[in-house]
Amino acid sequence: MTSAARTFASISSVTPPPGAPARLGRAVVLGGSVAGLLAARVLAEHADRVVVIERDPATDHPGARRGVPQSSQVHALLRGGAVQLERWFPGFADRAVAAGAQRVPADRLAIYTDGVAAPGNSDLLTSTRPFLEHQVRELVRGLPGVELVTGRVTGLDLGGDAVTGVRYEADGAPRHLAADLVVDASGRASRVSDWLSAAGWNAPPLTRQVTGINYATAFFRRPPGEQDVSAAVALVTPETGGDLGGATFTPVEEDRWIVLLAGFGECRPGRTAEDMVRRCRQEFPEPFGRVASGELLGDVATYRQGDSRRRDWAAAARLPAGLLAVGDAVASFNPIYGQGMTSAALHASCLSRWLRSGADLGAPARAFFALQKVVVDAAWDLSSGGDRSRPSVNRPPRGLERVTAGLIDLVVDATVVDPVVARAFDGVTQMVEHPQTLASPGILWRSLRARRTPRPQPTPALEPADRPA
Ligand SMILES: Cc1cc2nc3c(=O)[nH]c(=O)nc-3n(C[C@H](O)[C@H](O)[C@H](O)COP(=O)(O)OP(=O)(O)OC[C@H]3O[C@@H](n4cnc5c(N)ncnc54)[C@H](O)[C@@H]3O)c2cc1C
Repeated sequence: MTSAARTFASISSVTPPPGAPARLGRAVVLGGSVAGLLAARVLAEHADRVVVIERDPATDHPGARRGVPQSSQVHALLRGGAVQLERWFPGFADRAVAAGAQRVPADRLAIYTDGVAAPGNSDLLTSTRPFLEHQVRELVRGLPGVELVTGRVTGLDLGGDAVTGVRYEADGAPRHLAADLVVDASGRASRVSDWLSAAGWNAPPLTRQVTGINYATAFFRRPPGEQDVSAAVALVTPETGGDLGGATFTPVEEDRWIVLLAGFGECRPGRTAEDMVRRCRQEFPEPFGRVASGELLGDVATYRQGDSRRRDWAAAARLPAGLLAVGDAVASFNPIYGQGMTSAALHASCLSRWLRSGADLGAPARAFFALQKVVVDAAWDLSSGGDRSRPSVNRPPRGLERVTAGLIDLVVDATVVDPVVARAFDGVTQMVEHPQTLASPGILWRSLRARRTPRPQPTPALEPADRPA
């Protein structure tokens, strides 16, 4: 195992890291979405007080929020994220299911690659994004020493070589909070880099990669009872579908299915109710057509994301002490890979390891950013590598990227005929294993051998495609 894969395994482990908790007076978290809430959960073991400042007012029920415009879209919780939620909140899945989330056993999950079915390898916990976030928020709200404050963060206080506090506005008035540690969890539009630059510090270098991903999400009524296929993912490779990315459906709370169609560049499938239903019935394997034959609930919600972004904190030359960043504020990926919330959960795990490592809290958090980089690299390499093969993105891979892209293609191709390869690939895409585990001699040999195995027939769509008049 390479050292990155070993570090990833230790971050993903649910065994508490060795070492005593650090002792902090007050920790302040900027942003109370998934990443901020999970950071607060970890910080609660180390700080007398944890204050989460979130600009959207907290509500007593799940619902879409202005600060998270993506919340109306499909949000898959990968297995790596589900494991971490269970670690930080034992009994999380049972509680979520009791409140309405759905459990999909692996044998009722179908993965289609260009229409060819393979069984799923991971049990899923499925719900809408507002529902999941609400579950986490309620648990964090109940932690001793944690306070959720409604306010808009406007800047950092910097004194000497450290961040010493946070400025924010609440109830129309400017406010200030001294802090021993500040964690930026304010999402991909975070302004912390600007504030650092303005104060003469180095902002972390920002990398963007074009994705131009288009989402269309709709809800359909879900009839009572079990279905043979309770959830499905249909991947469409560039060779077959060009810029058509794929589709998913999963069961969610309140007896609904949530259905997503995705495309790259100018490919915008499913933007109207008619187009969504027609494509599900004609262009994707038959279970999609059955789901979309039910009653459509509400409108189709669309979303476009222009790029994936990462801020490389590990590479920033001069950083103040007392400042960390987690979640989308560090890296936000093409959502089609479903990595965001799980990355945030793994960043929380990095935070826990770092705080228990005897780190010097009076110095920049370099060791934290080095740990976190392993998680970010793993997610970024997989998703940005996949995106590069799309005609509309099509930045040809360079150097090592070319080797990685070739290996991933080989493995993906084998998943439909070799269950061992499919399981290994699932572990990586579910962020339980590091991508380098796919480069093991056993997996590569099996993937090469699979090339000689005839492909199964694709599952047909529910109805034949419309013929041009
Ligand atoms: C279309 C789409 C689909 C996605 N699908 C998936 C998926 O299937 N699976 C998955 O795991 N992830 C998915 N993601 C990613 C996921 O939404 C994020 O990774 C996840 O929300 C964690 O992000 P975060 O908490 O870092 O930031 P966000 O969720 O963006 O939250 C940032 C928070 O900070 C607050 N904030 C911002 N500025 C301030 C300020 N100045 N003061 C106070 N508060 C502030 C905001 O109000 C917000 O609550 C998707 C993303 C998109 C765009």
